[in-house]
Amino acid sequence: MKEIAIYPGTFDPITNGHIDIIERAATIFNKVIIGVAEETYKECLFTLKERADLVKEGTKHIPNVQVESFSGLAVNYVLKKDSSVMIRGLRAVSDFEYELQIALANRTLAGDVETIFLIPQSKYLYLSSSLVKQIISTGGSIKEYVPKSISDIMAAKFKEKK
Ligand code: ADP
Repeated sequence: MKEIAIYPGTFDPITNGHIDIIERAATIFNKVIIGVAEETYKECLFTLKERADLVKEGTKHIPNVQVESFSGLAVNYVLKKDSSVMIRGLRAVSDFEYELQIALANRTLAGDVETIFLIPQSKYLYLSSSLVKQIISTGGSIKEYVPKSISDIMAAKFKEKK
């Protein structure tokens, strides 16, 4: 069994769906490094530091998890960390085409890096960071979707940004 796996993503913000994937990965690998992407094609609500801090807050109960940020290609980051495993989460049908495309492109870029897909509990299959942002921006409650400590931080941050 490989020791270290890398879970890269935007995490804008981390949700219970991401945490579910991280908990699963942490039972399979000795160490899981979460790489919070510096550059992303998505427009982020939270800064890199805020996203990384929220990931740290949401995963502090898992001992073999480490949180970092990275820039550039995710596969290069995986190799830099002496790993050859990239974790991705797979939700409902909509993720499949996109994730397959990325995984195949990554294989072309770095054939030694294997992408492993994990699936969350069914209640998180339709949960996304975008949904959480949409709800909080309209004043709704996100307590079902992120840990309590994170929903408090997010509510405060969102007021600040308004
Ligand atoms: P990216 O911009 O890299 O897609 P995200 O933070 O949106 O970053 O997602 C990171 C990974 O986590 C992706 O593989 C995505 O499919 C997965 N993911 C996001 N939300 C969930 C969820 N609710 N359940 C399982 N996996 C998820």
